[in-house]
Amino acid sequence: MKAQGFANHSPTDLLEPFTFERREPLPDDVVIDILYCGVCHSDIHTARNEWGGTHYPFVPGHEIIGRVSAVGDKISQFKTGDLVGVGCLVDSCRTCNSCEEGLEQYCENGWTGTYDSEDQIGGTEHTHTFGGYSNKITVSERFVLHVPDNLDPAAAAPLLCAGITTYSPLSHWKVGPGQKVGVIGLGGLGHMGVKLAHAMGAHVVMVTTSPEKGADAKKLGADEVLLSNDPDTMANAMNSFDFLLNTIPVGHDVNPYMDLLKRDGTMVIVGALESLTKVSGLPFIFKRRNMAGSLIGGLPETQEMLDFCGKHNITCDIEMIDIKDVNAAYDRTVKGDVKYRFVIDMKTLNT
Ligand code: NAP
Ligand code: ZN
Ligand code: ZN
Repeated sequence: MKAQGFANHSPTDLLEPFTFERREPLPDDVVIDILYCGVCHSDIHTARNEWGGTHYPFVPGHEIIGRVSAVGDKISQFKTGDLVGVGCLVDSCRTCNSCEEGLEQYCENGWTGTYDSEDQIGGTEHTHTFGGYSNKITVSERFVLHVPDNLDPAAAAPLLCAGITTYSPLSHWKVGPGQKVGVIGLGGLGHMGVKLAHAMGAHVVMVTTSPEKGADAKKLGADEVLLSNDPDTMANAMNSFDFLLNTIPVGHDVNPYMDLLKRDGTMVIVGALESLTKVSGLPFIFKRRNMAGSLIGGLPETQEMLDFCGKHNITCDIEMIDIKDVNAAYDRTVKGDVKYRFVIDMKTLNT
């Protein structure tokens, strides 16, 4: 079936209208009319080939909210009209240990990303998956999520990446009452990290380079704000954190952040894929501190996160845009000028 969307054709091209094929539903497929799609910094990294290996034409988007428009013969969990979400994954091997544990994001045979991954299912003329900056998508049932009805659908879209990427490490490392938790970087991921850590009962500190974001951080649920580019403030906060969630989107010097951790504390990197420069052994050895990484979340945990957000009425703070403004939104995201996630209103595809 024909779909409309936005794609770019080289790292330096702008995104522009693009027509392409989606597969007809297989017995375990769900077809979704996309209502909204969030703009993740990963979309920008990939569109601009900043991580290398992007295939063009490239249709970004992995924070998808829509309504089911058709289902395959074997589908019992979804029906036409259901409000559903699709995140960063649309397929995996389904048989390895990680898949069997519901940790599809760590599939040992390689998962299929919602965009720019080799399409193992096929049924269209293109070899790579196309993401959610489009009017419809066909997705295997296992990778489709139920979205609680009490959540605003547009503001729920970024939960599918920013939400789960922050929920998963906060939950895995058992963040909760009595702990001092720092969220580093107040962007799309960071603002969800603050809301979720607050809802989990932790004492939350926003660690930011931007003093002007302090008031917002408190509204989002931060108990304190720490300016990471003020050496005196950082020195006063040394050895005080149980857990740090680091969302900085580029390679950086992690040592000043490691020094913030208490003995046995952990900093989890979710932002930078690049080298983290000058990592000293000192903060690890002298305080038995840990540094770890975390990738999005598996499907069962993503459903758990959506249900948690439904129960606590948590959504994202968004700026809704027409799709024609997506290129400007990319530039503003790179400058950190968004509160705190752009979401594309997909009905503007036809205007
Ligand atoms: P974003 O909206 O651009 O936010 C990043 C924030 O980091 C900025 O708002 C800024 O906050 C801070 N920052 C930026 N450059 C910095 C620098 N050089 N030094 C210190 N702080 C800096 O990005 P996002 O959408 O939240 O994504 C964050 C990163 O996570 C991206 O690299 C994205 O690709 C990645 N990601 C990873 C996963 C995963 O599974 N691990 C999933 C999704 C996204 P302040 O102004 O508050 O300092
Ligand atoms: Zn993302
Ligand atoms: Zn697998």
